Amino acid sequence: MQGTMLYGPRDVRFEERPDPEIIEPTDAILKLSAACVCGSDLWPYCGVDPVKQPIPMGHEYVGIVEEVGGAVRNIKPGQFVVGSFFASDNTCEICRSGYQSSCIHRQPGAPTGAQAQYARIPLADGTLVATPGLPPADLIPSLLSASDVLGTGWFGAVAAAVGPGKTVAVVGDGAVGLLAVLAARELGAERIIAMSRHEDRQKLALEFGATDIVTERGDEGAAKIKELTDGLGAHSVIEAVGTHEAMMQSIRSTRPGGHVGFVGVLHDVEIPGEEFFFSHVHLYGGPAPVRRFLPELVNLIWSRKINPGKVFDLTLPLEQVAEGYRAMDERRAIKALLRP
Ligand SMILES: [Zn+2]
Repeated sequence: MQGTMLYGPRDVRFEERPDPEIIEPTDAILKLSAACVCGSDLWPYCGVDPVKQPIPMGHEYVGIVEEVGGAVRNIKPGQFVVGSFFASDNTCEICRSGYQSSCIHRQPGAPTGAQAQYARIPLADGTLVATPGLPPADLIPSLLSASDVLGTGWFGAVAAAVGPGKTVAVVGDGAVGLLAVLAARELGAERIIAMSRHEDRQKLALEFGATDIVTERGDEGAAKIKELTDGLGAHSVIEAVGTHEAMMQSIRSTRPGGHVGFVGVLHDVEIPGEEFFFSHVHLYGGPAPVRRFLPELVNLIWSRKINPGKVFDLTLPLEQVAEGYRAMDERRAIKALLRP
């Protein structure tokens, strides 16, 4: 098959790769229907995360089950499935408490890389969720978004304790931040403040349910949130970037007793202890247990109640994957969808 490898900073190659095979009896092989480039793929792409050896890329996927191992009971060849970026058994005590991304048997969701024609998915029964039937083509982008960015934005909103009557601020206008806006609306937030200085992203945020846009960032952004909330700060703030500046902006935008849900992969964040101590802010997040939310998200998409696939503003043939990375790195695209 052909698939995507990252050899080093800004060196993405689409090349011949070994066909994935069943290794464990709990594995499934998928023929991928769509793939995409993740904001977190840009960390190694830009050289922030070192690349010591060529790595297969891609961890968001939807596709049709081609083959399953002998121990797979529920997932069957021919089904259309969505999975997440961590494979989980969905049966251990940690999974049953809703933390599938910390499953005691946790593995990469697509170890052979999902920016490819085929992928091997470990722990198929615990990891994959089948749709009610083969989806119409226009639902595939939304189903693909559920694999990571929608599930992650949703977890961010849940972690930030979003609910009816709450004022929510979202730090980060990438796909996760925009879908956190959508999640906040679905979870009943009264007011949703999207923090973005890009017009196309502001428009999408408004479409997804944002009620206010704030263009300031850092401490100025936090001051603006306070100004909009009678000097108190938001009840719930979703941090969807992962930098020190974004985390401090989030904590400083939150009212005492409020919640920050952080889902950007943290890089060099150092929270001053004394300030945090006196903030009375709940701080909670991590790698989203997307699997917890998948059945509900698939339902919402299948019944066309939400259209998160709109975050894909660039579609490319899979072999042009390198252009997808470039477009996202240069912020010409919010998120690139790849068609095998
Ligand atoms: Zn588990």
